[in-house]
This record gives sequence, structure tokens and C-alpha cells, in this order.
Amino acid sequence: MRTFHLLTDAFTDVEHSIDQKTYTELTHLTMPYVQTINGTTRYYALCPKCHNPIQLIGVFRKRKVGAHGKHTGQDVSGIGTFDKREYDFCPYAIHAGYTWLGYKDDTEITGLEKDIVKKTELYFDRGLYFLERSIGVRFPSDVKRYMVLSYFANEGYRYRIATRDNFPMPVLEIAFRQPLTRMPVEKDSWIVQALKKHGFSFVPCQKINGCVFIQGDPVQIWFRQFERYTDDDGYSESMVCVIDHFDPYGGVDDCVDWEITHKITFDFDFLNRLTAMTNWKRDEDLMRLVDKYVSQLPWVNH
Ligand SMILES: [Zn+2]
Repeated sequence: MRTFHLLTDAFTDVEHSIDQKTYTELTHLTMPYVQTINGTTRYYALCPKCHNPIQLIGVFRKRKVGAHGKHTGQDVSGIGTFDKREYDFCPYAIHAGYTWLGYKDDTEITGLEKDIVKKTELYFDRGLYFLERSIGVRFPSDVKRYMVLSYFANEGYRYRIATRDNFPMPVLEIAFRQPLTRMPVEKDSWIVQALKKHGFSFVPCQKINGCVFIQGDPVQIWFRQFERYTDDDGYSESMVCVIDHFDPYGGVDDCVDWEITHKITFDFDFLNRLTAMTNWKRDEDLMRLVDKYVSQLPWVNH
């Protein structure tokens, strides 16, 4: 990784660049960040994603690969204990693309999960807006409410794919397989282009400029194959979006006569820009619903 957190950064989006100047200014090169062990000076901080201790390499001595951070894999006095479980789910601990779906099997709630819940409490409506813009659809309000309900009923904040940055992503895994015919779709989107080839037609959406409704056989939209790819610049995430014939009984494997697939890469900068926007119109009703579910969590103190 190329960024770090201080001990005081537990709940923040800010990630500090791993370089000599930044590290010196922020830590003043004091304990516990800088420690001398067996005569060797070591530079520590926290991983910005999983908050496990990391050691900084090449900050004060040039290395070929440049200054970077590495999970220590063990407790560091004054910095923190090593949490193997958080490490296993840390995007910076993964070095290749992979597919990874499912639910964490431990029962104890972790700090990471609490942070994610805190974020959903602040930004759930923006998270859905982010998904809508990424996919090219607008969710009707009953679908949004269903997404909130499913997210909390299924503990979306505990999904393997969930990180501090991507809190809306589990919604795609949990609450999708939605009838697309009911949703306004951006008329310039890949969805419209792909469905045209299958003979579908469209009518303009009167309420939302630039959006259309799909005419014809009912179709549904859902997601599979979550992928996360990490490199030195950070990470990106994608999912394969599937459009196929809508089956009201939820059958997946039988009678698949056609399907359209499209890989969507999610631009999390967009999500960050969105959460920074102060003039964005909140979905107050939805956030009240989120508040209700959060307040019902037994480990949340209000
Ligand atoms: Zn980490």
C-alpha cells in the first residue's frame, strides 16, 4: 500500500501518503510510530483499510519499489493488535484479481463492521445514488426501501466484499434481481443499447429527463462475479451485471433462453465526491428508515 492511517484516523476517509515529509510531519517521528527494536529503527502506522499495524518500508532509505507499507502480521506495541480476520478481508492484503462472495462466518462484530454501519447511517441514500449512476438506472422508492431492509436483515456490513469505502456494494449482492421494466433507464446507457439488439423498444420517462422505460417482455437485472483488483495505486472493483427474462418465482438456472452481461467497474472517487457534496438533496425518508434499523442493532449505543 502507498497510504497509511494514524492511530487517530479510525473513522475517516483521509489516507496519508507514505513519504518522508508526510510521515515526519504527522508523527513527529515519536513513539509509538517510530520504535527501535534490536538496534534497528522501525516506522509504524496503521493500514488505512483494515487498521492492522503496518511497517513502512523505504521511507527513510531508498528502495527499488519506492516507499510503501506492509502489514506486520503481528501485534505492535503502542500501535495495535493484529486482527487476522480483518487482514483476511483487507483489499491491500490481496495481490491478484479474485472472485469472492458470501458472508463472514464469525459472530463477533468488529470495528470495521461498526465503521461501515456508521457510514451507511450517514450516507446510505448517496450510496444508492452512486449505484444508480454506475448502473444507469433509477430505483423507484419502494425498491430503495426494500434495499435498506434487505441490507440490514442480511447484515450487508458483514459481507466479505464490504470495506470502509464500498459500503453500497453489498446491496448489489443482497437486494438485486429487480424487475428492470419498472425502472427508468438512462437512454444513452449500455442497457438500452443492449436491449435494442434484442428487439426491445422504449418510451420516454415523463418524470426524469433523459430516461426511458423498457417496453415488452418483463426483464430483470442482477449482479454476479464481484471482483477486486489491487495494485500500487489502490484498488478497483467490478461486478458483472446480468439482464435476463424476469422470473417472478426467482428461478435462476432453469429456462435461461437469453441473457445480456455487462461488466461494470465502480468509480469510488465518484462516491467520495458525492459524500463531500453539501448541496446534495438528501432522501430524508430513506435515511429515517436507515436510522431505525441502525438503532435496532444491539451493539449500537445511542
Ligand atoms: Zn490492511
